[in-house]
Amino acid sequence: MAEKHKNFIGGEWVEPATGEYFENRNPARQSDLIGLWPRSGREDVEHAVAAAKKGFETWRLTPAPERGAILKQVGDLLVERKDEIARAATREMGKTVAETRGDVQEGIDTAYYAATEGRRLFGHTVPSELRSKWAMSFRRPIGICGLITPFNFPLAIPTWKMFPALVCGNSVIIKPGEDVPHTVELLVEVLEEAGIPKGVVNLVQGFGEEVGDVIVRHPDVPVISFTGSTETGKIVGRVCGEMHKRLSLEMGGKNAQIVMADADMDLALDGVLWGAFGTTGQRCTATSRLLLQDEIHDQFVESLTARARQLKLGYGADEGVDVGPLVSAASREKVERYMEIGRQEAELVLGGERATGEGLDDGFFFQPTIFTGVKPGSRLATEEIFGPVLSVIRFSDADEAFRINNEVKYGLSSSVYTRDVNVSFRAFQELDNGITYVNAPTIGAEAHLPFGGVKQTGNGHREGGWEVYEFYSETKVGYLDYSGKLQRAQIDNYEASPY
Ligand code: NAD
Repeated sequence: MAEKHKNFIGGEWVEPATGEYFENRNPARQSDLIGLWPRSGREDVEHAVAAAKKGFETWRLTPAPERGAILKQVGDLLVERKDEIARAATREMGKTVAETRGDVQEGIDTAYYAATEGRRLFGHTVPSELRSKWAMSFRRPIGICGLITPFNFPLAIPTWKMFPALVCGNSVIIKPGEDVPHTVELLVEVLEEAGIPKGVVNLVQGFGEEVGDVIVRHPDVPVISFTGSTETGKIVGRVCGEMHKRLSLEMGGKNAQIVMADADMDLALDGVLWGAFGTTGQRCTATSRLLLQDEIHDQFVESLTARARQLKLGYGADEGVDVGPLVSAASREKVERYMEIGRQEAELVLGGERATGEGLDDGFFFQPTIFTGVKPGSRLATEEIFGPVLSVIRFSDADEAFRINNEVKYGLSSSVYTRDVNVSFRAFQELDNGITYVNAPTIGAEAHLPFGGVKQTGNGHREGGWEVYEFYSETKVGYLDYSGKLQRAQIDNYEASPY
């Protein structure tokens, strides 16, 4: 009998009020049942909100450096448990252990950054325009933050949201992607062991419409941070708009690697192999378009196809595996639907089918796939597929490449391989993305820099780095007048203009 896991509410591990559970199976080996997780509902969310309210009352008054010290402890525990958590993440999500170790490392980096931010959380002190008056801004916690996360970075993305929210003095309710309930459970265990007070962190497992939507619509949850598809983000955005909630959206991408004819071709090849097929193409920053300058197009496609053919598919915990499975049957079906579209729009030069054979038949494997002759504006060139599928587009010069890059509704990351410093700086300036890499693939963000995209990838906020702390706290201004008399701003001090 598979183990029944629990929610974490008010500092206790509790069964769901619904009494219902869902199965979590290994996407590389469907016969491997990992366990049963709560299929929670409205009542569970209500319990979590009540607990988070209580948690907030004391946590908001805990000095930020003290809150940061708990995050330091969280980082240390994640270091100790890095391999165990990475293996659990690979088992439920599918990417290789090298990648899930990277995922945990990102959580560790985020914890240590958050720990020190507890000693900053800067405001400003500025001169008042009046005599004997003090003026300053400072940051206040907001309340309960509802955090909704996707499957593809099962450890890192929850930490990007939780840790800054906690250091700023908020309490949180997290609902992870339903394909990856175990990894966040382990993260919450770490937070509990590090001494996070009761009610400050609450975990409610379950499905988007049954738990996520209830959190988003709850009137006592003023802050929502969502990472997931643009389609779901649109629904979340509509609700939050109507309810005047503070909302951070991080959504889809259609990221391009541009290779100029003067580039180091081996470097560009390594970059696109990692960018397109790492995490089986299931990264928001995955390289799903490859833009090649005319002069090098044919040779590059030939070398890339030969290299991609060599990639070894398999269970991500096995030695020597480069590419794991897709996360679910639904994800593989979506990729398959794009194969029909792709065959009509472009030329298939590699893959295009489910991957079968020893060790592959019981999982959601799909062959690394390359289409050439893809037309800018076509569905292959503009829609997020979220699988190991690369669309190759040709261009004649940098102007054309930049235009093609910008012709999609998404704007997360982009990459340019070139030795020309002018093209490099033009790329920073002209590509409509939140992140541009030069001579590096479209993936590889570091935890201490702001992360996010423009256009329909985001709504103007950033995760990571210093900016995310502004999202999770409210700016407040304090004026203190010690003149002992009524001073009227903009009136008393301008009787004789100082200018
Ligand atoms: P998804 O939109 O299907 O689900 C994301 C989360 O939203 C899950 O926890 C899900 O249960 C929940 N959800 C679903 N319906 C909901 C509703 N009506 N109300 C509230 N919550 C709801 O996305 P996914 O398949 O888990 O993840 C893949 C997507 O995430 C891709 O589009 C990818 O580009 C994007 N992503 C973006 C970033 C980024 O930082 N920009 C990072 C990672 C992933």
